[in-house]
Amino acid sequence: MDDSHLVLAFYHIAKLEDPKAEVKAQKAFCQEHDLMGRIYVAEHGINGQMSATPEAANAYMEWLKSHSPFEDVVFKLHTWHEHCFPRLTIKTRPKLVAIDIDIDWKHRGTSVTPEKWRELMESDDCPPIFDVRNDYEWEIGRFKGSKKPPCNTFRDFEKWADDLKQEHNPEKPVMMCCTGGIRCELFSSMLLRRGFKTVYQLGGGIINYGLKEGSKHWEGKLFVFDDRLVVPISEEPTETVGRCSFCSSEIDDYYNCANMECNDLFLSCKSCLKEHIGCCCTDCTKQERVRPYHEQERHKPFKRLHLCQTS
Ligand SMILES: [Zn+2]
Ligand SMILES: [Zn+2]
Repeated sequence: MDDSHLVLAFYHIAKLEDPKAEVKAQKAFCQEHDLMGRIYVAEHGINGQMSATPEAANAYMEWLKSHSPFEDVVFKLHTWHEHCFPRLTIKTRPKLVAIDIDIDWKHRGTSVTPEKWRELMESDDCPPIFDVRNDYEWEIGRFKGSKKPPCNTFRDFEKWADDLKQEHNPEKPVMMCCTGGIRCELFSSMLLRRGFKTVYQLGGGIINYGLKEGSKHWEGKLFVFDDRLVVPISEEPTETVGRCSFCSSEIDDYYNCANMECNDLFLSCKSCLKEHIGCCCTDCTKQERVRPYHEQERHKPFKRLHLCQTS
């Protein structure tokens, strides 16, 4: 596999005077340079994932850093053999993270480097580690010993945070991680508001950890919100932690349910996938609008994936 493309992930929190004008400028630059991907611009900052040739990617990074307030933006880079985004989407969003609450952007957790994160994990009194990604991300990979609070809705997380105060002394630190770091900005602020004194959030997220520290203390793979879908976090091999949703064999291949009304992501081995003609459950196999089943080597990007929430 050649490495003809770079995959960029970045976000930056900063007050933007005119998000609409920013979208316009981003669109103009990206169209001119054949960048593909997704950029969301909100009043409180920018969040993007893109793919491009190295020349175009470098031009973009240089361009973004050359204008205010993005001078300090940090890019996380992977390589891939082609574009991993089917299109270019750049738009304003009322909120930087697609969760329905207002957050206090001034009071966020303490960002720690991957190195410091690893040291904390290796210390005798390692604080509890909370992974604030979605369930389907967690199922195929996570830090060893980490816990998965309910994070799909904000209300669930709030309730969980209330309960946490009963079992964990809020004076003592906790650790928090997500894919690229942006979700932690939101969830750490939530814990701080509830009286937790120290929340260490993994700076640049799991992507950055893999790039800097390899797969140490990590098991499985990483779910990403583009055509690659599932990637190793580094070149160091890890065990498979995902399980086929039918037979529980070790697998980390996700598929979209062939029933068009469902389309849910599910983990499956190849033989169970075939047995269920590409569907997530027996019920879905009996529905009217089921895409014809073709044997496939891996997940084929399906168009609704871009509607998934980015983290
Ligand atoms: Zn199976
Ligand atoms: Zn289904």
